[in-house]
Amino acid sequence: MTSPVIDALAAARQVQERTNAFLGFLDDRATAAAAGVPPGSPLGGLPVAVKDNICVAGTPTTAGSRILEGFVPPYTATVVERLEAAGAVVVAKTNLDEFGMGSTNENSAFGPVLNPLDPERVAGGSSGGSAAAVAAGAVPLALGSDTGGSVRLPAAFCGVVGFKPTYGALSRYGLVAYASSLDQVGIVAKDVAVVRAAFDVMRGEDPLDPTSRAFQAAPLGYGRVAVVKELAGDGFSEAARRGLEAARRALESSGVEVVEVDVPAVRYAVPTYYLIATAEAASNLSRYDGSLYGVRVGRSGDGQEAVSIRTRGELFGPEVKRRILMGTFALSAGYRDAYYGRAVAARARIAAQLRDSLAGVDALITPTATGTAYRLGEKTKDPVSMYVGDVATCLANLGGLPAISVPAGTADDGLPVGVQLMGRPGSDDGILDLAESLVAALRA
Ligand code: GLN
Repeated sequence: MTSPVIDALAAARQVQERTNAFLGFLDDRATAAAAGVPPGSPLGGLPVAVKDNICVAGTPTTAGSRILEGFVPPYTATVVERLEAAGAVVVAKTNLDEFGMGSTNENSAFGPVLNPLDPERVAGGSSGGSAAAVAAGAVPLALGSDTGGSVRLPAAFCGVVGFKPTYGALSRYGLVAYASSLDQVGIVAKDVAVVRAAFDVMRGEDPLDPTSRAFQAAPLGYGRVAVVKELAGDGFSEAARRGLEAARRALESSGVEVVEVDVPAVRYAVPTYYLIATAEAASNLSRYDGSLYGVRVGRSGDGQEAVSIRTRGELFGPEVKRRILMGTFALSAGYRDAYYGRAVAARARIAAQLRDSLAGVDALITPTATGTAYRLGEKTKDPVSMYVGDVATCLANLGGLPAISVPAGTADDGLPVGVQLMGRPGSDDGILDLAESLVAALRA
């Protein structure tokens, strides 16, 4: 017997051998669920892969960390519950940077994800497994999470579509927290239409996540898009700039006017993002102390403090430790105002400039990444060189804006380039429409 779900399970195993995109396969649960999909349901048995920081009851969730090995959540994330209610079937859990901290998937405790288009390149991160799984054709749809670009960056590196909705448009209940004021669940697929179908069944208020809400669909009306000048030149590769140029021409050919705006606060985006993300992470990750979740390292008779020190010391990876140290420092007495306080003020300024630059236009357009997929190991020795690659994506998280990355051609090295559209909070439907017409115009 064959079915899309059985085919996806088989394809995922093959893709696993060459990419390491997956951390778990849900054969029994998936085949049982596939048999029970009611006829006529909106997603009619569509196989979906879910990033392994999103909980599925009864199934291990590691968040890419040794500290959560053996953790089996007793509840299912609202987004997964809603996908399943619409007839999607979860077939596998995908690899990720530990707790979502990274841009290349090399910070996973379970090994990096290789780019399905070139095994010497990274798939991007932190949702590298989700992007690779879709790009390699194992599944038509995958969920990721996006705190500073983790859905859009790997989508760009793997040549697929990655969407981060407006902050609050999707419930975060059941998503392992990294930086709660920035975290959103995101969607990866080859086509915008599949992204939209998934978004439509997951969106809206969830009593289990007080930051979630339903946004009124507000159609775009300006027929105008703005290029962000600070994200079109220095620091972006020739390939990234050509992708942006191709997108600009495609938009113009479809009747959209393209203008340019200055967003000077872009220069503060990366330090602001990394101060806020690490401060929130230091607080969120304090719960992993060996007492409640996952693994506990210690000898009998050890007190809780000794257990906590050993568990955290042995089981968190080096990047997670670096983030906890940075975040703790940024929040510490005597430095809090100088670091965290200033970052919060800078975030408000960035958000205000984004809002102003969106007045009179439907969207901002930027390259998604500074270039094509990094070589494995290229960015691991110098973390800051990795952080700066988030400059275009982290803006949407700082401002709570919807943003999508779509493929915009290939570079000379044969690797895909992505462009990003960012809109006003709540304009998710309009951004999806615009992305769809951009993709069509790029193909024409
Ligand atoms: N690369 C960014 C970071 O490491 C974003 C990651 C994400 O969006 N989860 O924080």
